[in-house]
Amino acid sequence: MKPVYPGATVGVLGSGQLGRMFAIAARRMGYRVHTFSPDADTPTGQVADLEVIAPYDDLDAVRRFAANVSVVTFEFENVPAPTARAAAEHAPVRPRGEVLHTTQHRIREKLFLTKAGLPLTPFRTVETPADLARAVAELGCPSILKTADFGYDGKGQVRVTSTDQAEAAWTSIGRVPAVLEAFIAFEKEVSVVAARGADGAYADWGVIENRHRNHILDLSISPAVVPESVAKQARDITRVVLEALDVIGVLCVEFFVEPGGRLLINELAPRPHNSGHLTFDSSVTSQFEQQLRAVCGLPLGSTELLCPSAMANLLGDVWQAGEPNWTAALKHPEVKLHLYGKLAPRPGRKMGHLTALASDPGKALELAVAARNAL
Ligand code: AMP
Repeated sequence: MKPVYPGATVGVLGSGQLGRMFAIAARRMGYRVHTFSPDADTPTGQVADLEVIAPYDDLDAVRRFAANVSVVTFEFENVPAPTARAAAEHAPVRPRGEVLHTTQHRIREKLFLTKAGLPLTPFRTVETPADLARAVAELGCPSILKTADFGYDGKGQVRVTSTDQAEAAWTSIGRVPAVLEAFIAFEKEVSVVAARGADGAYADWGVIENRHRNHILDLSISPAVVPESVAKQARDITRVVLEALDVIGVLCVEFFVEPGGRLLINELAPRPHNSGHLTFDSSVTSQFEQQLRAVCGLPLGSTELLCPSAMANLLGDVWQAGEPNWTAALKHPEVKLHLYGKLAPRPGRKMGHLTALASDPGKALELAVAARNAL
């Protein structure tokens, strides 16, 4: 495929904050952006040239959408496979629909990682009551039962605390196909956000530490404070993942770091990732610009970190007592505010984030937390 040059139109399936930040990067480089999702006045739509509103299973609408753009990418990993296939009839889809297909289903993703010989959390597939009983007997308790389909931010997950409670746990997530995972008493959670160009070039932003609250990413710190050997191993594994999946675009690998430094892959996200939001302010090239460069067939930009940084997510909860005190947060001049244009600040909803820049990652974290507390 010939490169897609500035002035052309890039299509984005999905319309959330990832698409919004992608569209901002694309606009800055002179591209036009069309977004496709079932919703109106979306975070991406507010920034895009055109917001197409249709269900993902309206394949004629998907085909019309794709026919009007030079390349299609996605910001929402649960775009159904037939949607990606319909788009691919009219424009290149990057990453390929098969990458989506593998990573949007926990069983397929884990079988892929196993086949690639990569280290991952011990798991068993659960499709019948007998599978469940065997899985709990083999992995022990506590363990975590996760639906195979459509999981993110801890949705469709339940902890299994005893053999007796396993059936009830499975019922609570709808008795759908699932995986049971061993519970990992991790020391840290880290991620590597990486990109692969159409020419096979690879670049990553190093290792980022992630702290979750209620299963939702709360804080990210870059660079992660981990031994060099752990960082190298995480980056090497990530490169293998992108190459084995033949990704063109950005993909994030989330890891658990066990005491002693062993890495286990938790999951893959085949798109820019919440833990990479800080690259917008901290790096020569952000994950969003990199996604654009990759899917357009342009050379990748440098992922060099200009400054240690930390990101604090802003959930709707921050609005509970009324308008947050933006002045108080922004009185720290090294703090950057990103808001996603969402109208209703519901508790638990990702509304935006703060990025703090400092001379070391620990100070950046303190600053990000202090700025958020000031809201
Ligand atoms: P996930 O949506 O699968 O990434 O899960 C969200 C968060 O739940 C993870 O980032 C961890 O903090 C926690 N978690 C998920 N799976 C496990 C596990 N097998 N062991 C321990 N914690 C887990």
